[in-house]
Amino acid sequence: MYFLMTVDVEAFSIPLNREDSSVVKQVYEEGLPLLLDLFSKHDVKGTFYFTGTFAEQSPESVEMIREHGHEVGCHGYDHSPQRAFDVLSYEEQVSDLKKAKAVIEDAAGKIVSFRAPALRINEDTVKALEETGFKTDSSICSQRFDGPFTFGSKKKLKWLFAPRKPYMLSYDSVAKAGQSKILEVPVSAFILPYVGTMMRINPSITKIVQKILFFESTKTGKPLVFLFHPNECISVNGKVSTERRASNYVGYIFADVLRQRLKLKNLGRGALKLLECVLKDAREHDSEFLSMKDYRGKYRE
Ligand SMILES: [Zn+2]
Repeated sequence: MYFLMTVDVEAFSIPLNREDSSVVKQVYEEGLPLLLDLFSKHDVKGTFYFTGTFAEQSPESVEMIREHGHEVGCHGYDHSPQRAFDVLSYEEQVSDLKKAKAVIEDAAGKIVSFRAPALRINEDTVKALEETGFKTDSSICSQRFDGPFTFGSKKKLKWLFAPRKPYMLSYDSVAKAGQSKILEVPVSAFILPYVGTMMRINPSITKIVQKILFFESTKTGKPLVFLFHPNECISVNGKVSTERRASNYVGYIFADVLRQRLKLKNLGRGALKLLECVLKDAREHDSEFLSMKDYRGKYRE
């Protein structure tokens, strides 16, 4: 089966629960090298999605990824909730994509793969991606249900109806297969998401989800897509705070306070150990590790 290891590189501080420019240096000096070592050890080829602002502040991080032979992709320009793709107009989406693409390509060469900040896209994103020369998207998380624990959660209910296998996005709905030129490669989920945060919060539940997903992929040929962040490899030593980001009280309690508490579990070495188990399990299941771009090549064949 195909295993797509994907990594979102952004300046988000998990302990501070907000973007913080000090994270850029920590990711470059600590998070990315630890991750690259682990990937080399297990011969993993992956895709690293950078935000434009991160690439601007640390082009050397982008170069480091390219030199290690991984694919570099785009994670939007700005990761703040106000710049989420599902709240931007079509023109704003095109402009953010162009800005991000230009700065990332300065360090990486041509890029074709995209993942939206906070996995928030809408129908305009499909056309905006075509307009700006992208070929793949990985912002849909088919059959993942977060309830109130995420931002933009009402719009994400359509994930429940999205195809499980990769599909060409439709212009009418991002949760339907259609005629666009953008290949959607959904992030794996089975109610619960197959991502680093979930793995750290509850390793044993993630093992069960993984068992189901591996079984499915072996039977159907659907690629596994795991999502991780280099800032999960950075240990917390210092201040932890809960910044209010949600606009209403329920959102504040679930998406900010509770989610923040849970997200602090197993950071640093703990996260790396758990991730190594995932890679070993994937190897035991005869996985071939591919970048998004390479997977697209296989899909077209
Ligand atoms: Zn992100």
